[in-house]
Amino acid sequence: MTSVPATVASWLKVTESGLYCAAGDFYIDPSRAVPRAVVTHGHGDHARPGHQAVLATAETCAIMTARMGTGAGDSMQPLALGETLRIGNVSLRLAPAGHVLGSAQVVIEHGGHRAVISGDYKRRADPTCTPFELVQCDVFITEATFGLPVFRHPPAALEIERLLASVERFPERCHLVGTYALGKAQRVVALLRAAGYDEPLYIHGALAKLCALYERLGVALGPLLPVADMTKEALAGRIVLAPPSAANDRWARRLPEPLPVGASGWMGVRARARQRGVELALVLSDHADWDELTQTISEVEAAEVWVTHGREDALVHFATGAGLAARALSLAGREEEGA
Ligand SMILES: [Zn+2]
Ligand SMILES: [Zn+2]
Repeated sequence: MTSVPATVASWLKVTESGLYCAAGDFYIDPSRAVPRAVVTHGHGDHARPGHQAVLATAETCAIMTARMGTGAGDSMQPLALGETLRIGNVSLRLAPAGHVLGSAQVVIEHGGHRAVISGDYKRRADPTCTPFELVQCDVFITEATFGLPVFRHPPAALEIERLLASVERFPERCHLVGTYALGKAQRVVALLRAAGYDEPLYIHGALAKLCALYERLGVALGPLLPVADMTKEALAGRIVLAPPSAANDRWARRLPEPLPVGASGWMGVRARARQRGVELALVLSDHADWDELTQTISEVEAAEVWVTHGREDALVHFATGAGLAARALSLAGREEEGA
């Protein structure tokens, strides 16, 4: 199958604006405004403003519009998961990526070959989005945010148990969980609910809009109250969610003895947790860890793997060792929002 990758590379190319499908004349997650963009999900390093036309799941279209208003794109075209669309000379469909609500892999077929662009993905269960679908292909373009063997994420339920144990241990303190507004905040809420925590949760104003959108799109989050409405005393023993930066700014002074909690795949790296002033580090990732990345590369049975977005070298080395052709794409402008 050595001719396959060369063939796909003739119609799927890396340009200064990102990955470009020449046979369909569109970009995937372009790093700057383009005439026609297919967007895998709503994180800022994938969904940029100013495109003329955007094709994405209905959820991603709604998230982009909530975040950017009319700047999201001149025309927003929703495509349901699994529905196939003809664009130019290619057929395209979106398959769930399991990363955040609305997240999708882009499946493109042309000239008898299939390429899959994973976008950000994970294989773990997540109550806030549709689970990852494995799509076999000739060329698999994978993310690699946690593409090193040291990254092995523990089960999310165990991390949530550690949070609840700490809340019990320090009833006079307020647990301040740093979460990104899209995906992580709602997942932490949903995991707490799944663990049986049905007390109100308190949110920073910056999280309100997307939490409300998730609920409108059918993801139940239980009682969420604005921190702004509460007295300091009333927040003792409570769990507050806020953007990670809020722990270190004036805003946090309204909280009683806040205990800073980190919730990200990076929390497995002790130096990172320390550097962010985190007292309780929860390893909660919305990205595939090393085992999920390598398992997926094996299971898609692609002849070639293109690695983007993170620690590319180790994954390229893994794929090469497995007898596959592999290359690092080094796309510009990815900064891991919501890891
Ligand atoms: Zn993402
Ligand atoms: Zn990303």
